[in-house]
Amino acid sequence: MSEALIFDPELITRYDRAGPRYTSYPTALQFSELQEAEYQAWVQDSNEEPLPRPLSLYLHLPYCSRICYYCACTKIVTANRAHAVPYVSHLKREIALQGRLYDNDRKVTQLHWGGGTPTFFNPEQMRDLMHTTGEHFNLSRGKSREYSIEVDPRETNEFTVSVLRELGFNRISLGVQDFDLGVQRAVNRVQSEEQTEQILLAARSNDFHSVSMDLIYGLPLQTLDSFMVTLDKVIAMAPDRLSVFNYAHLPKRFKSQRQIKTAELPSVEEKLRILQGTIERLGAAGYVFIGMDHFARPDDELYRAQQRGSLHRNFQGYSTHAECDLVGMGMSAIGAVGGNYIQNKREVGAYGQAIDEGRLAVYRGLAPEPEDRLRREVITQLICHFQLDPAPFEARWQLDFWEHFAAEKIALQEMIDDGLLSLTGGVIRVLPPGRLLVRNICMVFDCHLPARAAGGAYSRAI
Ligand code: SF4
Repeated sequence: MSEALIFDPELITRYDRAGPRYTSYPTALQFSELQEAEYQAWVQDSNEEPLPRPLSLYLHLPYCSRICYYCACTKIVTANRAHAVPYVSHLKREIALQGRLYDNDRKVTQLHWGGGTPTFFNPEQMRDLMHTTGEHFNLSRGKSREYSIEVDPRETNEFTVSVLRELGFNRISLGVQDFDLGVQRAVNRVQSEEQTEQILLAARSNDFHSVSMDLIYGLPLQTLDSFMVTLDKVIAMAPDRLSVFNYAHLPKRFKSQRQIKTAELPSVEEKLRILQGTIERLGAAGYVFIGMDHFARPDDELYRAQQRGSLHRNFQGYSTHAECDLVGMGMSAIGAVGGNYIQNKREVGAYGQAIDEGRLAVYRGLAPEPEDRLRREVITQLICHFQLDPAPFEARWQLDFWEHFAAEKIALQEMIDDGLLSLTGGVIRVLPPGRLLVRNICMVFDCHLPARAAGGAYSRAI
């Protein structure tokens, strides 16, 4: 591992507590009812800015043919692919409705298809969706565009990968989780190494710029030894980016997790050993820790953006296109326009009904107050770059940073004493032992947290 991360089990155990992942601030728990007209006004304002922002499009494709027991995503599980046909037509109509709102000279520099399983849909359906998107939005063909898709290797073949490239995707994210057959059976996701490697090689031969893999630690039957075997196999495949997520067992909230036998889950101590082993092994293999579960090779754009100070965080995790307004489409999708948040209806029936009536499916959102916008900038800066210089904040917000955050400064003192961060000349630097706990540091600046955390709304950091 780079010198940028130190694993300290005692500190992790002491500081680890439930908190948000800060893909937005305030989080979606603060959203309230939103009328379509309000959203349209926000878009209009964004069109009229002196330099309108480019666009990032997110399409939620929620269908899966099988359930993975650990899953906490918004998805619809069905073996009958015909059930998803009406969704494609609703999504196409939403793309047309949304596209009319945005000035056509606003280039789409970032696009992401997330799931569910986007490759649940066949190549013709995917072509249809991308074609419709291109009819209503100004899709970039530039090299710096970031068009990414989540792929389930069990639901993809080499031909599909070539179709995705033809459609303009240049980044691919493969769901793996664990290669151990016992673990795979325990979570109902049996996926061979060959399936994964075949799709990875197809992505390479089709000139995808970046291949990412998702792993999960803390799954049933996992041990340090078994997970290191998985990790070695993954490292041998040399993905450009890796996400290693912590499995949060919340069976009261997520029904499918009730299929997981609690007795088969690794102990807290074993999970810590797995995390430590993961960090050490990825470091030895040349990966750098980006933050919040993410690792990348030093030549990957994610790391370069972090070095440049232009890394951003949104609903898809870390992002290299901080400058975009985000248009979320599909059931439950969340967008962010002019710094305001918008979410579509979360049930497929209600979503389709709104679209059938010729309306957008927005139902809730949030226009953050100036104080929340300031805190969002602080949290984003810390979670993306591990340091914060108050000077630019003071200039932009016309305030004395540490006078404004006097209570937070006091709250940070214990973390300073424990070596998680330093505060020198007013500048916060998250130190190597604090980097795994960066969201706990961010939580100090979150003024909505206490009530929500007490309600069990969030998972733990580790
Ligand atoms: S983990 Fe992915 S593939 Fe599995 S059920 Fe959830 S969304 Fe579907």
